Amino acid sequence: MKNNEPKDMLGRVKLTPVQEAKSTLLQALSTIRPSSHSCSLAESAGRILAQDILSPEDLPPNSRSTMDGFAIRAEDSFGATNSMPAYLEIDGKVKMGVMPQGNVGKSKCFHIATGGIIPDGSDAVMMFEHTIPIDERMIEVVKSVGSGANVIQCGEDIQKGSPALSRGHLLRPQDLGLLAGIGIAEVEVFVKPRVGILSTGDEIVHWEDSPPSGKIRDINGIMLTAACKKLGAEVTDYGIVTDNEDLFLTTVRRAAAGNDVVLFSGGSSVGMRDLGEKVIEKLGNPGIIVHGVALKPGKPVLIGLCHKTAVFGLPGHPVSAMVCFEIFVHSTIKHFAGLRLPEPEFQPTVRAKLDRNLNSAAGRLDLIRVQLQKQKNGLPTATPVQGRSGAISTLARAQGYFFISETSQGLNKNTEVEVHLLT
Ligand code: AMP
Ligand code: MG
Repeated sequence: MKNNEPKDMLGRVKLTPVQEAKSTLLQALSTIRPSSHSCSLAESAGRILAQDILSPEDLPPNSRSTMDGFAIRAEDSFGATNSMPAYLEIDGKVKMGVMPQGNVGKSKCFHIATGGIIPDGSDAVMMFEHTIPIDERMIEVVKSVGSGANVIQCGEDIQKGSPALSRGHLLRPQDLGLLAGIGIAEVEVFVKPRVGILSTGDEIVHWEDSPPSGKIRDINGIMLTAACKKLGAEVTDYGIVTDNEDLFLTTVRRAAAGNDVVLFSGGSSVGMRDLGEKVIEKLGNPGIIVHGVALKPGKPVLIGLCHKTAVFGLPGHPVSAMVCFEIFVHSTIKHFAGLRLPEPEFQPTVRAKLDRNLNSAAGRLDLIRVQLQKQKNGLPTATPVQGRSGAISTLARAQGYFFISETSQGLNKNTEVEVHLLT
């Protein structure tokens, strides 16, 4: 630990407020630009666009009918009603997928189906439902329509040269649809973030093994792996490392060399914590940027930047590890994924009413896990999940969480809180 760290009256290192830690992290990340590669449109769902795309074409390329009916001159229908129909002569038929031949003359019309190209001379489509056939060549029109009725104009969906999608955008199914429609077959996307994960501790065994007495199964490894994969990251498992300095250092170094982000968990007890700090400092450039935040749970988190890799020492307690993931690692992975930053993360939230009084120590941000209950009238209630703060089942039972701010000493029953959903 460095001597120039700010300390409190008891000589403890001052904890960094969460917002400050987050801005320090995002500031450090802003110097690293994620790389990109070309990808076929078919493979691009869920990827992040690394280019701005302007539409190379008008969509649709021609004005088309949005209904089955007759292409007409709108003015020929003006004033038409059931009792005073207009009479139009059927003078042609628009074939699907073919440019229409001929011209719709005065008091004439062409058969047209949905998607058919509007023939020259006509400016509207009269739906079948508003016509009555007289014979093979004649219809009655019983309704008046304006120019452009039931027609999607050339370029009305998107115009040639106008922005289609921008850099940093997550490609969803509808985006692939738009790009297909304007003839984009290849897109530049950001490389998937690579994350290396390891668990530390003499007491930890692989979760598939039966732990001999005194040992426990690795909870963090699989949980953090799943959380990273959910964000589209590629994860490499560096296994479980005993509390051994050399092994720890070589493993973290190897992980840092091959990944954008490294997560090690455990080692938040005093002696081991020093080791975690030492390892991040040894990798250096610049090394530790945050150690310890005013957050419960999650206080002993270490955040470092080593060359171009973000290295996190997450607390060993699974709940604390997951909370630090939500608050710090999530936005780091998003940065490497190329999602636009800085930008407040979009997370679905729900307003709810707290169903009891809650105490909180001033000076730290408290994250409260809750279950939500719909109410007949008004907002849903938020019930804090009972149980030891370190118990993973409390997080598994939670539907969301809200914060009690650093300045607050607690909240009263019925206070409105903003619950972040754990999806
Ligand atoms: P530490 O941060 O190493 O002091 O660990 C704090 C607590 O979390 C201890 O009870 C550890 O046994 C537990 N712990 C550490 N790592 C893991 C892990 N990967 N899975 C489950 N529990 C863990
Ligand atoms: Mg440990």
